[in-house]
Amino acid sequence: MKAAIIRKYGTISAEETAKPVLQDNYVLVRVRYASICGSDQHLFKGEFHPRTQLPMIPGHEFAGIAEEVGKGVTHVRPGDKVTVDPILWCGHCAACQAGHYPACTTLKLIGIDINGGFAEYVAAPAHTVYKVPETISDEAAALIEVLSIGFHASARSGLKESDNLLIMGGGKVGQSILHAASTITKGKIFMVDMLEERLSLARASFPDLITLNTLHTDPVTAIREMTGGRGVDVAIEAVGHEVAIENRLNPVRTSIQSIKGGGTVCVLGLGDHPVEILMKELIWKEAKIIASRVSHGEFAKAIDALEKKKVNPLGMITGILNLEDAQKGFDMLEKDPANHLKILLKI
Ligand SMILES: [Zn+2]
Ligand SMILES: [Zn+2]
Repeated sequence: MKAAIIRKYGTISAEETAKPVLQDNYVLVRVRYASICGSDQHLFKGEFHPRTQLPMIPGHEFAGIAEEVGKGVTHVRPGDKVTVDPILWCGHCAACQAGHYPACTTLKLIGIDINGGFAEYVAAPAHTVYKVPETISDEAAALIEVLSIGFHASARSGLKESDNLLIMGGGKVGQSILHAASTITKGKIFMVDMLEERLSLARASFPDLITLNTLHTDPVTAIREMTGGRGVDVAIEAVGHEVAIENRLNPVRTSIQSIKGGGTVCVLGLGDHPVEILMKELIWKEAKIIASRVSHGEFAKAIDALEKKKVNPLGMITGILNLEDAQKGFDMLEKDPANHLKILLKI
């Protein structure tokens, strides 16, 4: 089969490799589209080494058709449109025993820890395979994983229908949170970023979204003014890296200062450096700060929202390339992050 393989960090190329062997309780998926994730960009640059081992086929956001099903598989049949929840938890550690699978101490992902979906075929454990209704396009199906991240963050944050929400960061994760959160809250949604292109891309799908460019506007002051001095009920931080901007606080502290008393800050950004926060700002508000990692069963929510047309994430796609052009896709994301969010590989 054809697959895009990283043999050396920084380069990826399509080549012929062995097709995975189907086992009992597995589904062999013929991939149609796979999406390049921010994690793939880290992996590509070698930032996940030694967790990732070369050579490898990345890709944890993908969808296609069930080509063959192994013995014991009953919920999907050959020919069904499917997608794969890439998370593989151990089931034995303390977190797993408490049902807290995203915190599994040996959590593995298809496409990060083992070969993934930038390939014609992936053999996935049956319990990770979700049937996708035919009414959902192949392109949208490839975005179910990233949407599930948004639904999980929304659930972790406790977001309710009447809540005002701040989303810090308009990247891939921030935009998927926006799509998911817009199915939950009817309150005001603010999005903060320093890249105008990302904010206008978000506004194109959500005309009521209040976007604040942190280069020109102090988000804390603006949010306070626009919420009658209250602050938002929930702030979700999806920035991770910290680019110091003059006269601005880091994204986590901006979130803390932007919430109401008793509000919640939910953090997702995977930064590599400590983030400075002032605890008394949290304590005075008796606020909650919680974290969200990957997803926990939200594939079903994302599929349901797509099927009922409550979300249309196609606006997040800024490019579709052939598998042979995977390198070009990574280069485009690296060189022009303002204008590229989700690049799909057609397989
Ligand atoms: Zn991802
Ligand atoms: Zn575990």
